[in-house]
Amino acid sequence: MKPIPFRDVHLDFHTSEFIGDVGVDFDPEEFAHTLINAHVNTICIFARCHHGYCYYPTKVGVVHPGLKRKDLLGEMIEVLKTHKISVGVYTTVAWDELNARLHPEWRQVKPDKSLVETGYWKWLCLNSPYADWVEAHIRELLSNYQFDRFFIDIVMQWFDGCVCDYCLSDMEKSMLNPENPSDRRIQAIQVQRRFMKRMKSIVEEYDPEIAVYFNRSWILSANPDASLRKDLEYYSYVSIESLPTGGWGYNHFPLIAHYLMNKGIPLQSLTGRFHKSWGDFGGLKSKAALEYECLRVAVRGIRVGVGDQLHPRGRLDQATYRLIGYVYSQIERLEPWLKDTEPVADIGILIANGTGPEGVLGTDLSSEEGAMRILMELGHQFLILDEWDDFSKFKLLILPDHVYLSEELTDKLERFLEVGGRIIASYFSGLSQKTGEPILRDWPIRSIRRSRYSLNYLRPIADKLGLDVEVYDYALYEPAAYVEAVPGAEVLAKV
Ligand SMILES: [Zn+2]
Repeated sequence: MKPIPFRDVHLDFHTSEFIGDVGVDFDPEEFAHTLINAHVNTICIFARCHHGYCYYPTKVGVVHPGLKRKDLLGEMIEVLKTHKISVGVYTTVAWDELNARLHPEWRQVKPDKSLVETGYWKWLCLNSPYADWVEAHIRELLSNYQFDRFFIDIVMQWFDGCVCDYCLSDMEKSMLNPENPSDRRIQAIQVQRRFMKRMKSIVEEYDPEIAVYFNRSWILSANPDASLRKDLEYYSYVSIESLPTGGWGYNHFPLIAHYLMNKGIPLQSLTGRFHKSWGDFGGLKSKAALEYECLRVAVRGIRVGVGDQLHPRGRLDQATYRLIGYVYSQIERLEPWLKDTEPVADIGILIANGTGPEGVLGTDLSSEEGAMRILMELGHQFLILDEWDDFSKFKLLILPDHVYLSEELTDKLERFLEVGGRIIASYFSGLSQKTGEPILRDWPIRSIRRSRYSLNYLRPIADKLGLDVEVYDYALYEPAAYVEAVPGAEVLAKV
């Protein structure tokens, strides 16, 4: 795989067809020097945008009607290569306004038969003949241009599944019930995987060294059908898109990163220069905010990316690149200590196996996020694990709230305890997936039941929790669980 440098700009160019003079001010040398001065050493540039238009001469798609240059993509690639800046090429999949207009029969359909649409964008189904169109578009790009990375965006089926005619006929063949939310989710996951497999093999046909990434929402799941481990086969690297002020929040990046950091795949994370989210003009983050967001990525040994939206006339904004340069010059100095690093952690947070409100294929990660925040605030080194990870390197495993145990996981945890490992389990964690009863040998509780009250009180036992904790009836604000301790177990507080 071609190396992915550490300091990236992800240059969006979602430009409506009603805008004219597109690219009219683009100056290749000024473009490259703005990036060099900002210490950028890789950039992802656009072949096509969510409005569905292409920025290069195409026989497959439609060139943006306002484009004033013969081949904006080609000009960018050429000047970037001259200046040894690594080139990623961007294209979009499920969101393509033009194809959605031309081919309403390719659109994703919700279980209530309405068409899938979020914000501005209509969703096209990856299982429809649109996938053939995307293949032709990808082949065209690979035949005409040489580049280092391929960022294939919005490779997503609707979370609750698509029930378009193509998906329904598929589900019938594979005995999946479109009335069942879990079956619809399985269908959506399978469609995404088939699509990624197909496109990855096409890229490999042309240039096996190109690093491929399919962008979508990353949802951690320990369910064998929904686990991200299976998706990772189709990726050369993962770019964790996470703009803290753009709806992702500050906890999204560490949650996904600490899961992926030991999965053997190169990582990058994208934030944005925007005050809020993608695509605006005039949203420029404060220095302190961008510095914090980029450095917290870099200190984990993860490549840093900042998203920008190029002005339709094609000129990079100088204030934006002064801001990026302020942060990237610091990262460049630190880079010898950041590259090719490996996480060393002695605590693992085990993700649950699909007991969240979304049913068997979803995972409510609020408890895992809570455990993560405690560990980050205390400055501990940790990773987020699933039951297929190797536990032997860890001293402590945390099972937050709803980690029910399969037979395999029970055996694995027994072995972990036998060699001196420790477990902190909260609420219903540690119970058998099958029976709902405690299953581990030497587990210190005999039975557990839910409270029937809307809140409970916790009273610490004197001197057990340290001098800072008053013996007081602390409100828990939510229903607790009653547990019965086995004889000899040490009890620290009572509910
Ligand atoms: Zn469909």
